[in-house]
Amino acid sequence: MTEKMLKFVHLEQKYPQKREAAERRTDFDEIYASFEPDAAADQAGRCSQCGVPFCQAHCPLYNNIPDWLRLTTEGRMEEAYAISAATNNLPEITGRICPQDRLCEGNCVIEQSTHGAVTIGSVEKYITDTAFENGWVKAPVPGQENGLSVGIIGGGPAGMAAAEQLRLKGYDVHIYDRYDRMGGLLVYGIPAFKLEKHIVERRIRLLEEAGIVMHTNFEVGRDASLEELRRKHDSVLIATGVYKARDLKVPGVGLKNIYPALEYLTTSNRQGMGDAVPAYDDGTLNAKDKHVVVVGGGDTAMDCVRTAVRQGARSVKCLYRRDRANMPGSQREVANAEEEGVEFVWLTNPEAFVGDDKVNGVRAVKMRLGAPDAGGRQSPEVIEGSSYTMEADMAILALGFEPEDLPSLFEAPELGVSRWGTVKIDFRSMMTNLDGVFAAGDIARGASLVVWAIRDGRDAADRIDEYLLARKEAAA
Ligand SMILES: Cc1cc2nc3c(=O)[nH]c(=O)nc-3n(C[C@H](O)[C@H](O)[C@H](O)COP(=O)(O)OP(=O)(O)OC[C@H]3O[C@@H](n4cnc5c(N)ncnc54)[C@H](O)[C@@H]3O)c2cc1C
Ligand code: SF4
Repeated sequence: MTEKMLKFVHLEQKYPQKREAAERRTDFDEIYASFEPDAAADQAGRCSQCGVPFCQAHCPLYNNIPDWLRLTTEGRMEEAYAISAATNNLPEITGRICPQDRLCEGNCVIEQSTHGAVTIGSVEKYITDTAFENGWVKAPVPGQENGLSVGIIGGGPAGMAAAEQLRLKGYDVHIYDRYDRMGGLLVYGIPAFKLEKHIVERRIRLLEEAGIVMHTNFEVGRDASLEELRRKHDSVLIATGVYKARDLKVPGVGLKNIYPALEYLTTSNRQGMGDAVPAYDDGTLNAKDKHVVVVGGGDTAMDCVRTAVRQGARSVKCLYRRDRANMPGSQREVANAEEEGVEFVWLTNPEAFVGDDKVNGVRAVKMRLGAPDAGGRQSPEVIEGSSYTMEADMAILALGFEPEDLPSLFEAPELGVSRWGTVKIDFRSMMTNLDGVFAAGDIARGASLVVWAIRDGRDAADRIDEYLLARKEAAA
């Protein structure tokens, strides 16, 4: 065994305290574990009501943060909830999983004055959890039906937000999703230790109670074409997300035990929700007792390494070709992963996967940052002669996602897409090149964030409403 390999000692032997930290976190409790009412009010009371709410300006939903912080300080929780819910369909979810350090909290003036931001996300979560406990959160039942119908393809956050807004306006709303559960990446991508699944299910139940019709296991392209849905509904919203994993073209990538990130995370999420998952039970897609190498530096890679730690991996390494300062993932997530025992191998790229049938190692090469590219980002360059092999009996590729080929999948070659494959929309009307067909969320903007998907879903609902009302008026 090489000296480098000797470093891969069993996590439990080397890091008992880190394993403990991970176990403590198997349920969502990272910042909020004991967020009692007094603590929420204290935290909210740290807001200086500065009058220049950069936090609000840096929230994609333009949430009225200063007002709900003030109301929380004053114990006026129902009003705080009403203000929070006025701009956000899923505040209990964004409060948990927004990268606040890059959005609202990162721009809090108290953070800028080096005194640590008000933990806005945790207060947002607390407000909505309190509202649910007290029965203040109601199903979005419309005052009056308007006789028009909208079909939404995709039940992720973009589809859910659009569905709620449209239902409130009186539309007959149908959501079609190819999975057996609604929620999109909220259910099958994001791990349960960041977002508990019953929180998502609670929202979906409310949408059902409001009369939104959910068609699960319904894949557009297989069970109906886009054209068929256009004939069935007055308008159609495409909110299908992006699911094509970017691949890695290196020797040995086809060996067994090398998986795309989403396959690994979906298996883990299904197992956590009690589904029968043979690939987990027989040890195939289970990191227990394995030396795991995750390739990538984004938030999906962080979710994979932290899931592997929780499954009982012997060692977990994250390979990224740039350095820490240049990685796309949240620094907060890196810190969490490091605390749990994950080893980050910066400035390193896989050259090949080695093994006979199954992978047993990753041949990696060291990189340095060279001249900036056209976008101003330093390009990684190989350091010749620096290759070495690290032990790995499971490898996970987390290199990002691209859109699937929707025009082919939907049997709609006329649907306009950009050169990246995202569905092209007119940014004012949010309509595609097909009359009455709109698009929102990751499939229109590229892989992004839940909070942006909600924003897009809300905007699309408004644009669809304007379009259909104008059409109705013209026909009258
Ligand atoms: C592993 C992972 C972790 C992430 N963590 C975070 C995080 O912590 N915070 C954050 O803000 N963002 C995170 N994101 C990003 C976030 O999840 C997405 O930006 C967001 O879910 C996009 O919402 P959406 O509604 O556009 O698409 P999705 O959530 O992807 O939902 C799309 C839905 O469309 C359905 N669909 C697709 N094709 C069809 C078809 N042909 N017919 C019927 N249905 C179809 C899918 O089944 C899916 O349910 C993460 C992403 C990943 C992959
Ligand atoms: S939605 Fe996200 S960015 Fe906006 S206030 Fe909540 S946590 Fe901050």
